[in-house]
Amino acid sequence: MTLDQQAREEARSQIVSAVRDFVQRDVIPTAVRCENDDIYPGELVEQMKDMGLFGITIPEEYGGLGLDFTTFAIIFEELSKGWMSISGPIGTHHIMAEVVAKYGTDEQKQHWLPRMATGDRRGGLALTEPDAGSDVQAMETTAVKDGEEYVLNGSKMFITNAENGNTFLILAKTDRNAEPRHKGITAFLAEKGPGFKVGRHLDKLGYRGLDTCEITFQDFRVPADSIIGGEEGKGFIQIMDGLESGRINVAARAVGVATAALEASLKYAQQRKTFGKPIAQHQAIQLMLADMATKVQASRLLVHDAAAKKDRGERCDLEAGMAKLFASEACGQVTLDAMRIHGGYGYIKEYPLERYYRDAPLMIIGEGTNEIQKLVIARNLLKRYAI
Ligand SMILES: Cc1cc2nc3c(=O)[nH]c(=O)nc-3n(C[C@H](O)[C@H](O)[C@H](O)COP(=O)(O)OP(=O)(O)OC[C@H]3O[C@@H](n4cnc5c(N)ncnc54)[C@H](O)[C@@H]3O)c2cc1C
Repeated sequence: MTLDQQAREEARSQIVSAVRDFVQRDVIPTAVRCENDDIYPGELVEQMKDMGLFGITIPEEYGGLGLDFTTFAIIFEELSKGWMSISGPIGTHHIMAEVVAKYGTDEQKQHWLPRMATGDRRGGLALTEPDAGSDVQAMETTAVKDGEEYVLNGSKMFITNAENGNTFLILAKTDRNAEPRHKGITAFLAEKGPGFKVGRHLDKLGYRGLDTCEITFQDFRVPADSIIGGEEGKGFIQIMDGLESGRINVAARAVGVATAALEASLKYAQQRKTFGKPIAQHQAIQLMLADMATKVQASRLLVHDAAAKKDRGERCDLEAGMAKLFASEACGQVTLDAMRIHGGYGYIKEYPLERYYRDAPLMIIGEGTNEIQKLVIARNLLKRYAI
């Protein structure tokens, strides 16, 4: 192991063990109340700021932790194992930071990254619209140049951190007639201000406690130098790149939730007795546990494979797509099996099982639905094996 690798391993193990402690000590006891009453976990977010979790992958020169994507994935897994919602404040925030770090001008990096690393400036991604989700290029939000400013009009849907965040990566059309359509899409980084209106707080099946809202822009003015990289028409490519780590993050969340469901099942199966013996001794339960554990481990390995590729500086849309597809479907199956193992108790709010089960579908939908992941995977395969 080189000195560099050794230092990386040490940094990883320190932060991962700090996150584990935080989850056990603070997150799990808070989760039930915040989840049931849909309360934002403000105190936990403050602790996450102090731990540097808003800057996991932001380079050290800009005040971040400068960690790799494998560590990033492990952190998202650990947080989600405790409570999936708590990974939300730093989820799309990291997509935003990554896009700035990779495509921003020097001035944008100097200005935004140190503030994002501390969590002082935090928020997320305003991409999806009421009538444009999977078909991103159908977006209707416009940005029209007016002197040294752009004027944004339109609306966004399902925006995480909309209430509690202050800074957003906003995708808007600067050219509605561009062909291909994606060349008309530009990414702006902007703080909330007059004309940026946060709409209704959406009441969700799972991922509760975290704000997901509509946003409308009504003559929302942003400085012309808010365009990422300073050039119009690059937003779609920039965001598709950023979504790779978004998919690693979502897949890692799925691994965390599925692991929690598996571990709860392993424990419960050894305690609960039927027909005179622990249910863990019934072969039907053992078969279920074996399948669940295998799915969880396969998911984790796919996540780490995608993260390792990103750590090597390579594009990983194929691997991140596979990880997101497999891990989220596995999470759905594992959480349902865990509920079966818990019998009637799995359906009751006293146990966290029903929360895992409600949280699982978001990973199937978020950062591009699994149908879209399959299209991404197939497109990459056909490119790779083109004849
Ligand atoms: C809790 C939550 C938080 C979110 N946070 C954010 C956020 O912070 N920022 C943000 O920008 N977005 C966010 N989203 C939006 C999310 O990314 C979208 O919901 C998702 O991309 C799907 O878009 P849609 O809901 O419009 O579904 P649609 O695109 O309308 O899809 C509906 C169905 O059709 C299928 N489908 C669509 N096109 C095809 C096709 N070509 N082939 C096959 N099947 C297809 C889809 O797979 C799906 O099953 C969030 C969503 C949720 C639920």
